[in-house]
Amino acid sequence: MIGDDEIQKQQGIIPYVLTGDKHYLDLRAFPDKIKLAVWEKQNHKCAICGKEFDYQFMEGDHFTPWRDGGRTTIENCQMLCRECNRRKGGK
Ligand SMILES: [Zn+2]
Repeated sequence: MIGDDEIQKQQGIIPYVLTGDKHYLDLRAFPDKIKLAVWEKQNHKCAICGKEFDYQFMEGDHFTPWRDGGRTTIENCQMLCRECNRRKGGK
């Protein structure tokens, strides 16, 4: 028997088979391809504070948190500056 905490740490086909939750098929971290596209879409601005930042100072954030089943897709990605991401807390 694998507890929820144990499943949370995993990623891939096994937790997907165990839970039927497709978000386990995604990596938790957004790949650069998605982050760059969202960064362009947001006109290089942080989604929370609205200030402009260079790409390397921003981080990908899940709209629907990973722990709540949010997937690592472009639709579920917003780019935040490090400060806002840290203030938002764990995801
Ligand atoms: Zn910000």
